[in-house]
Amino acid sequence: MSIQSIKARQIYDSRGNPTVEVDLVTENGLFRAAVPSGASTGIHEALELRDNDKSKYHGKSVLKAVDNINSIIAPELLKSGLQATEQRAIDNLLLKIDGTPNKAKLGANAILGVSLAVCKAGAAKKGIPLYKYIAELAGNKNIILPTPAFNVINGGSHAGNKLAMQEFMILPVGAANFTEAMKMGSEVYHHLKNIIKNKFGLDATAVGDEGGFAPNILDNKEGLNLINEAIKIAGYEGKIEIGMDVAASEFHKNGKYDLDFKNEKSDPSTYLEPKALEALYLDFIKNYPIVSIEDPFDQDGWDSWTSITASTPIQIVGDDLTVTNPIRIKTAIEKKACNCLLLKVNQIGSVTESIDAHKLAKSAGWGTMVSHRSGETEDTFIADLVVGLSTGQIKTGAPCRSERLAKYNQILRIEEELGAAAKYAGKEFRNPTA
Ligand SMILES: [Mg+2]
Repeated sequence: MSIQSIKARQIYDSRGNPTVEVDLVTENGLFRAAVPSGASTGIHEALELRDNDKSKYHGKSVLKAVDNINSIIAPELLKSGLQATEQRAIDNLLLKIDGTPNKAKLGANAILGVSLAVCKAGAAKKGIPLYKYIAELAGNKNIILPTPAFNVINGGSHAGNKLAMQEFMILPVGAANFTEAMKMGSEVYHHLKNIIKNKFGLDATAVGDEGGFAPNILDNKEGLNLINEAIKIAGYEGKIEIGMDVAASEFHKNGKYDLDFKNEKSDPSTYLEPKALEALYLDFIKNYPIVSIEDPFDQDGWDSWTSITASTPIQIVGDDLTVTNPIRIKTAIEKKACNCLLLKVNQIGSVTESIDAHKLAKSAGWGTMVSHRSGETEDTFIADLVVGLSTGQIKTGAPCRSERLAKYNQILRIEEELGAAAKYAGKEFRNPTA
C-alpha cells in the first residue's frame, strides 16, 4: 500500500493564527503540507473551517478541521487503497466524503492539506521534482518560470494605514531570467524603503502582512508615485511595470466605493459611483506603467467588471470575483468580466480542482496568476505549482518576510536545476510561450 499514515496538527501561520498542517507517510518518506489563509476573503470561497469558540484563539482554532483529517479522511483514504500518484481519484474521494458544494462539512482547509501532501508524495513516488510532477498532472510540456509580482506597498485590510487599495506590485518584465527579476525586485524594494524613510520618517517603513511597506498615505496615486520614483532611482524604467490589487469588495458600500473606508467617519458624499471609479483606473493606466488590475470592483458588480475589461487592453484579474471556482469562472467568461484568473489553492480546496480551474481559464484565452494568501506558512507548494502549470505569473508578496521569500527562493532553486533549459515568462506573463 502506498499511503501508510496521515496525521494532521494545528500550527500557526505568518499572522500568528492557527492553521492546518498534514504529515503523510508513504514508503518514500514523510510529506508535509500546510494550509494558507486569507484576510480579504471573497464571500463565494470554499469554506475554511474554524472552531469559532471566541474564548480560545479569538475563535480561530482549526481543531475540528484537524480532527476531520485524523478521524474521517485518514481512515477512509487508507481503506481506499489509492496510491499517492492517483491525485484526481484521491481528490474526488475527498469531495465525495465531504458531499457539500463548498466543502463545508470537512472544511476546505482539511481537504486541501491532505490534497497538497498527497501531491508531494506522488512526485516522490515517481522520483521527479514536484513542479515536473504537477506539469505531468496538468499535461503541460513547456516549462516556463513566472514573472513575479512583488507587492511592495500594502494597503486595504492588510495594513494599518489609510490607503484603500490593497496591493501595489512591481513586475520585472524586462529581466532576462528569474534570478535577475529577483535582483531587480529586491533593489527597487530597498530604494523604496529609503524614499519612504526620507519622506515619512523611519516609523513609516514598517511592513504589512505581505512584506510591503504601509506608509500612512490616503491618496492611491501617491502609492504609484512612490513606486515610480523607486523604479527610476534603481535604473529600471521601462523594465519594471506596475500591478495593483484593489480588493474593491472591501470598500464597497451600497453600490458605491469608499476610498476612505478605514476612517469610521468617512464622508458619504465622497463615495465614488462605479463609473467614477472606472474613470480613476483609466486615468491611472494612462499615467503610470500599469499592466494589471485585480478586483477593481465588488465581487458581485458584474456590469462594472465587463465595462472596464472592454475599456482597456491591460490585464483585469478576478480574485474575489471568481474565487478559483469553475462556476464563477464560467460566468465571468460569458460576461467577459475579466481576462485573468487569480489562482489560490485554498479558495477551491484541492490540487485537481486548481489545475482544472487554470485549464478552464486558459481555454478562454485568459491568463492565470498563481497567488499566496496574506496568512502564509513556510510551505512552498505554490512555487512548484506556478512552474508546473507554467502560468507565467505569481504574486507571493514583497521580497521580504521569509514566508513570502520561501516561494521566490524555491523558484530560484528550480531555475538553477533547469540550467540552460530555464525559460522566463518576462513580458509574456499573460500568455507565456517562451
Ligand atoms: Mg486579491
